[in-house]
Amino acid sequence: SGTPLPSLTTLADEARIALDTVADRASGLWSPSVRLGVTGLSRAGKTVFISALVHNLVHGGRLPLFEAQSSGRIAKAYLEHQPDDAVPRFQYEEHVAALVERRVWPASTRAISELRLTVEYESASAWGRMFSRGRLSIDIVDYPGEWLLDLPLLGKSYETFSREALELAELPARKEASGAWRALAAGIDPDAEADEMLAQRLFDGFRAYLAACKDDSRALSTLPPGRFLMPGDMEGSPALTFAPLMRLRTGRPRPGSMQAMMERRYEAYKTHVVKPFFREHIARLDRQIVLVDAMQAINAGTAAVSDLERALTEILACFRPGRGNLLTDLVARRIDRILIAATKADHIHHESHDRLQAIVRRLADRAIARADFSGATVDVVAMAAVRATREGTARHEGETLPVIIGTPLAGETIDGQTFDGETETAVFPGDLPENPTALLRRNAATPAQGEPTIRFVRFRPPKLERTAEGVSLSLPHIRLDRALQFLLGDQLA
Ligand code: GDP
Repeated sequence: SGTPLPSLTTLADEARIALDTVADRASGLWSPSVRLGVTGLSRAGKTVFISALVHNLVHGGRLPLFEAQSSGRIAKAYLEHQPDDAVPRFQYEEHVAALVERRVWPASTRAISELRLTVEYESASAWGRMFSRGRLSIDIVDYPGEWLLDLPLLGKSYETFSREALELAELPARKEASGAWRALAAGIDPDAEADEMLAQRLFDGFRAYLAACKDDSRALSTLPPGRFLMPGDMEGSPALTFAPLMRLRTGRPRPGSMQAMMERRYEAYKTHVVKPFFREHIARLDRQIVLVDAMQAINAGTAAVSDLERALTEILACFRPGRGNLLTDLVARRIDRILIAATKADHIHHESHDRLQAIVRRLADRAIARADFSGATVDVVAMAAVRATREGTARHEGETLPVIIGTPLAGETIDGQTFDGETETAVFPGDLPENPTALLRRNAATPAQGEPTIRFVRFRPPKLERTAEGVSLSLPHIRLDRALQFLLGDQLA
């Protein structure tokens, strides 16, 4: 199919847009913009990261490694109206109020949202300074990483999708969680008459299995379809009410059969949900940060780490540049920098930060190799967007141990003591392994013996320090500045 000729109205519209842009430029309203995608599987820390990033820029936070800020070149940073009216706005004010005033963690990402942060800065070069002050709009796009996992579905038939879903469900790490769904699916004849109620039950069963994979003890990364756990505004829509079936007929299913109905919905999901998301949102991104909760996976064991690697591979494949694959027409290869960030590093002592970074680097390297990825520059950092702890030492049985100090969330238990959310305490978090290889064993089926465990306690957000004048300082962090320098530094040069 060829490209249709643009109609006259479109040409007129385009001319007007071009003129508007020129006018905006002339009036000084126009500024270059960079679109920064923020993603990661649910609970990875997207909301906290965006809130901390904006808060630190707007309030002139301490960001020594973010050169534009530390050298004093940023004159001011402020929020502006976002360019995309159809996308919900990221609820920055609400999230910051939660973090700073109530000291509770904000509500997590459930769907896509956007926020425009504009930075006025002085160019680092004398040449740049001759052309007045620079201005950059950063359009931050927050979206669930689960939605990226849908991309491979575009190249898969319903039959392949069903077969692969079943294979994964039978893996040792998932066998138990998927038991009820597999039993239900095994009893369904794909050739029988389509039955809406049965379709609903099968969908519920499959979704419950995916949700169970995410609980704390398993900490498995999720599987597609991404909207099953993160439906956004599609909750309850028939395009979502499908699930894999077993013993499928090869070739065309009988019209009116269960298989025909499921297949049609699967195809509708790809056409009406997956493709538009990639075309309208992912294709327009310039920079991307992928947040990963590696610590939770490490704590849950080798199977969870392998599973995280699998999810990371699929996520990176979405940003794969180059031609000759089915995604070429969907994703323009614009993204030139990707940062993979292990979040929540404030849960471990700084002596372990480099180890965490090394583990994630190994994970990412293998994921990059497996995703057959090259093109964009990828970097890795271990960070805490909001630092909820500080460090200290404690003496234990004649030994001096590094500890972290913070206020555990109400209800957290340590050594039999349950906390009330007001009491500060010191925790020995344990060590990460020096050698990441142990964590990345290929065969996830056999849980390793004596796996390292870090003591993972959830803390309340920190109390902000105040200056002598009573002004509260911006949110503390670990290496957020390093992340910003990689993602945005060159844009503010
Ligand atoms: P999202 O689902 O990716 O939006 O995840 P959130 O940003 O809501 O983070 C999920 C949870 O992880 C939060 O409620 C916090 O408990 C925790 N968390 C996220 N980032 C940090 C961090 O930098 N430090 C600490 N200590 N906890 C964090």
